[in-house]
Amino acid sequence: MEERTELKCEIVTPEGLVMDENVAMVIVPGEMGELGILPRHAPIVSRTVVGDVRVKRHDGDDWQFLAVGNGYVKVQFDRLLMLADTAELAEDIDVARAEEAVHRADEWLAKYRGGDGGVDVRRAEQSRKRAMNRLKVGGRV
Ligand code: ATP
Repeated sequence: MEERTELKCEIVTPEGLVMDENVAMVIVPGEMGELGILPRHAPIVSRTVVGDVRVKRHDGDDWQFLAVGNGYVKVQFDRLLMLADTAELAEDIDVARAEEAVHRADEWLAKYRGGDGGVDVRRAEQSRKRAMNRLKVGGRV
């Protein structure tokens, strides 16, 4: 009989545990591109960026999607630990809120382009990036 191998996938943010499940595969947005992690993957520690995490369950072909902010991933033995600034399951994403966040960021960026030196451009750009990512991931449900 084929031995079923599992990967324990934990995703943690400052607000708490977002996911803690035994799964078949996880794809995370690494700094240098997507990282596909299967059970028995070689040990790694990597920075992760704003993007989507895809989690494949054992039963059937269904994937679970999450939107994540910047963070780190560590894989060791059959355990994946992701620490991220923010993480939301696709079905928990408030799309209207993300649209408002994009709109607010655009207003800050327009002010900056208009010569307002008091605008924190990086903050506006980062917020826009997180919100656009939430729209992309939230749109998949
Ligand atoms: P907003 O201005 O809408 O709060 P933000 O960029 O300030 O957006 P973050 O700092 O990225 O928000 O996240 C703060 C907290 O709110 C995190 O816990 C994050 O998971 C949650 N969050 C932010 N936007 C959404 C959303 N659209 N749907 C669900 N949760 C969200």
